[in-house]
Amino acid sequence: MRTIKNGLIVGICGLAACAMVEPAENPAPVAPVTASSAEAPDLEFQKLYQTWFENIEPFRVIGEGQRGIYFVGTRGLGMFFIPTSQGHIVIDGGMPGQGKQVWDNIIKLGYDPADVKILLNSHAHLDHSGGLAELKQLTGATLLASEGDRSALEGGFYLGSEDDASIGAPPVKVDKIIADGDVVTLGPVSLTAHLTPGHTRGCTSWTMDVRQGGETYQTLFFCSASVAANRLVGPPQYPGIVADYRKTFAITRDWKPDIFLSNHPEFFGMAEKQEKLAVGDPLAFVDDSGFPRFIGKMELWFEAALEKQMLKYNAIMKD
Ligand code: ZN
Repeated sequence: MRTIKNGLIVGICGLAACAMVEPAENPAPVAPVTASSAEAPDLEFQKLYQTWFENIEPFRVIGEGQRGIYFVGTRGLGMFFIPTSQGHIVIDGGMPGQGKQVWDNIIKLGYDPADVKILLNSHAHLDHSGGLAELKQLTGATLLASEGDRSALEGGFYLGSEDDASIGAPPVKVDKIIADGDVVTLGPVSLTAHLTPGHTRGCTSWTMDVRQGGETYQTLFFCSASVAANRLVGPPQYPGIVADYRKTFAITRDWKPDIFLSNHPEFFGMAEKQEKLAVGDPLAFVDDSGFPRFIGKMELWFEAALEKQMLKYNAIMKD
């Protein structure tokens, strides 16, 4: 397990709480504090956080022949590799220092990571964008990202908390801006960008089709919709954040992808699905009820977090 320097406060994003983790004198185990207050450390979250640094064997999620979607992340962070005959695509770089891990995982799968041509990013938070600068340098690939996240990626900061260097990431140049509905094509693979802002201003989800056993399955790589360390009120992390979250919940309400993937494996129950895959079920990740269930829960949690932050804000304003 990788350790964190003493004194650093690292912003981290999980399903239960995208919390601020304040490493203790002895960096392992770290002692998370929830974003909204100095509540008791959440032991569950501590465990989850440690999985971000746990190496696992890369594997094919779905696909056949030289086609498909591969997982090249850690136990707790989702990074994905999509090979094509014209070069390859990688989605997300993990934490700072994990770009090389993604590179090594691609080699383990039998592909040449120097053939990676396109880098995509779900959103500009250090646990998903932290490894991109390294990965870009290693591969020479082109980074495509949304305008909303460009400043954070290029500036290496957490938007709205620019002065907090401890939650920054290595700056990385965006080579091309993608907009909602844009299609990125490499060889026979096409990915469609869906802007789902809120979690970050430029949060970007991607969809693509994948073939298995003569059938086509629509796959969603979902950005995130957790409140994380985001301030929703007084002053918000960025202007319009609450409206953005609600817009994202509105547009995703009808989404029912055959395969739901995301940048935190616990979002889509990867461990259980991996077990099914390991015993020979090539369709282990096909689950069209997974995303609706997840996004419904996210919306409830968002409204609860907003209410909590509003109450706190109003109490402070009264004093
Ligand atoms: Zn995040």
